[in-house]
Amino acid sequence: MRTAAPPLPVPAPSPIGCPALDSLLLSRRDLDFLLHDWLDVTALTRRPRYADHDRDTFDAVLELSETIATRHFAPHNKKNDAEEPRFDGERVHLIPEVGEALEVYAEAGLVGASMAYELGGQQLPVVVANACRAWFQAANIATSSYPLLTVGNANLLLAHGSPEQVDTYVRPMVEGRYFGTMCLSEPQAGSSLADITTRAVPAADGTYRITGTKMWISGGDHELSENIVHLVLAKIPGGPAGVKGISLFIVPKFLVGPDGAPGERNDVVLAGLNHKMGYRGTTNTLLNFGEGRHTPGGEPGAVGYLVGEAHHGLAYMFHMMNEARIGVGQGATALGYTGYLHALDYARTRPQGRPLGAKDPAAPQVPIIEHADVRRMLLAQKSYVEGALALGLYCSRLLDEEATAERAEDRARAHLLLDVLTPIAKSWPSQWCLAANDLAIQVHGGYGYTREYDVEQFYRDNRLNAIHEGTHGIHGLDLLGRKVVMDGGAGLRLLLDTLAATCARAASAGGEAAELAALLDAAAARTARTTAALWSTGDPAVALANASVYLEAVGHVVLAWIWLEQYLALGSGADAFHEGKRQAARYFFRVELPRTGPQFDLLDSLDTTAAQCRPEWF
Ligand SMILES: Cc1cc2nc3c(=O)[nH]c(=O)nc-3n(C[C@H](O)[C@H](O)[C@H](O)COP(=O)(O)OP(=O)(O)OC[C@H]3O[C@@H](n4cnc5c(N)ncnc54)[C@H](O)[C@@H]3O)c2cc1C
Repeated sequence: MRTAAPPLPVPAPSPIGCPALDSLLLSRRDLDFLLHDWLDVTALTRRPRYADHDRDTFDAVLELSETIATRHFAPHNKKNDAEEPRFDGERVHLIPEVGEALEVYAEAGLVGASMAYELGGQQLPVVVANACRAWFQAANIATSSYPLLTVGNANLLLAHGSPEQVDTYVRPMVEGRYFGTMCLSEPQAGSSLADITTRAVPAADGTYRITGTKMWISGGDHELSENIVHLVLAKIPGGPAGVKGISLFIVPKFLVGPDGAPGERNDVVLAGLNHKMGYRGTTNTLLNFGEGRHTPGGEPGAVGYLVGEAHHGLAYMFHMMNEARIGVGQGATALGYTGYLHALDYARTRPQGRPLGAKDPAAPQVPIIEHADVRRMLLAQKSYVEGALALGLYCSRLLDEEATAERAEDRARAHLLLDVLTPIAKSWPSQWCLAANDLAIQVHGGYGYTREYDVEQFYRDNRLNAIHEGTHGIHGLDLLGRKVVMDGGAGLRLLLDTLAATCARAASAGGEAAELAALLDAAAARTARTTAALWSTGDPAVALANASVYLEAVGHVVLAWIWLEQYLALGSGADAFHEGKRQAARYFFRVELPRTGPQFDLLDSLDTTAAQCRPEWF
């Protein structure tokens, strides 16, 4: 891994005397606070897997990520949006900067940042690797999504593929030579994967021939890499109906020959690109498998290799999806975060108007940050994006715990907590960091509504996140219908116990921490009561009628907990950073947490207004 890079230029201080922002992408100070003062990631180096690392190596890779993101990803973010990928019927054309940036990323060893040394990885803790990734997501979400998908694909194969599949596909992915995709959705089957129709027919040589159409496939075609490894969900004829009959296949764009090099063209072709509102630099594709355009081995049909056992495909895919969902939440966070910093920078430099009560029209105008309403919008953004970043890193730390904790019960605990937090870690930032982008536009006034400024693109890019990797509605159903009731409610109990432990620490700290703890304690008790009330009739149609409202209310309770955790980690620090964090925590408890009251009231009443509204009444 390259660890040294010349320093980045230092921005000029703002006219109101605040220190200049070091970066408009993320705050390194915040990352350091979260990783070290709160999550104590250096403690992970006591574990054998991370023994080679120390604070210095973590700092170096974070700095390297910031530098590469700033120099190679951010500069083409706008161009990637304005000149979206184009399909000429044969080939996809992207702006050259995308490939150049990804080459630098791969050369720096960042694709395999959290993977094992024997695979060519850097064996960094996931929490550190994900903090590094956030720089790229903030700089250029579209370009950064290629390695994000590739890492998820590689991790799935590491968990469920054969050693030969790992050698053939994972190693080149870690080297940055192959990229990966996930092919679940079809034109007629998005949320309901039970209804996919892609077929996989066994061939005499042990491979399968895949036929069908996959829709919305990100990174589905391009010439950025030597090969594209598609992970495809398909049904083997004669298998069980529904999700139990879904299997998972590797379908490479080019079949890999015995020499390990990509060779014969497989029968998977690009039917067209989707033209999106945002995230435009990521190719998004309609792929046809087995339409006969190519005839590998002399026959039509895309050659596919079964991963693991037949009919277990969806469970394997979920392995990738849970990780991808935390990645999506972090992508939403990074977009919200960079939008917030852009708004903050603008608010400190844009002169407009005079203080309330100022009588002298000749007095100079003040920067808009002097207006309380602008500070309200900034504080809301700060509370959303810093809270979401903390939640994403907390979940990433749980991934490390799940994989490397010494005691089996600690690994099991991390797994369960992660399971219940994942719908929130995906959905909450997708909703509230989008709200942050909305406020960032508002802070910019008319300029925010123009393409000359960056914030409108962040908003458009971020709008995707409540849709892909499971829609908002589907995550509501997952949280209330599955996660909080599984194992007799063990997941919810663990979540509430975790909140209670934080409240106990805050109560014994006394003062304001204890006051915030009392509010969180009440909200946690409300969560337990409402969950029980919702399931009291035993009728899923009643319980789940407002599952999205439940997701949003519990999401806010979880974020209040994350803010209390941060508040405690601040200790007695009293500089502007610490005071700002405390104020954001106060804001969250005073303005945001109370939003859950009416939501819990609605849920407690088992309201079915929407459920009972018949389709013809609209
Ligand atoms: C830019 C982009 C990139 C994507 N990348 C990929 C990718 O790489 N690989 C991949 O496989 N897929 C990808 N997707 C697909 C994405 O995961 C789906 O769009 C998503 O799962 C929703 O499916 P759908 O579009 O068919 O919507 P639908 O499933 O038709 O949903 C439409 C609406 O109905 C609601 N709804 C549907 N079913 C229910 C239900 N049972 N209960 C309550 N509400 C319901 C949904 O919440 C939603 O609001 C991508 C999509 C986009 C837009």
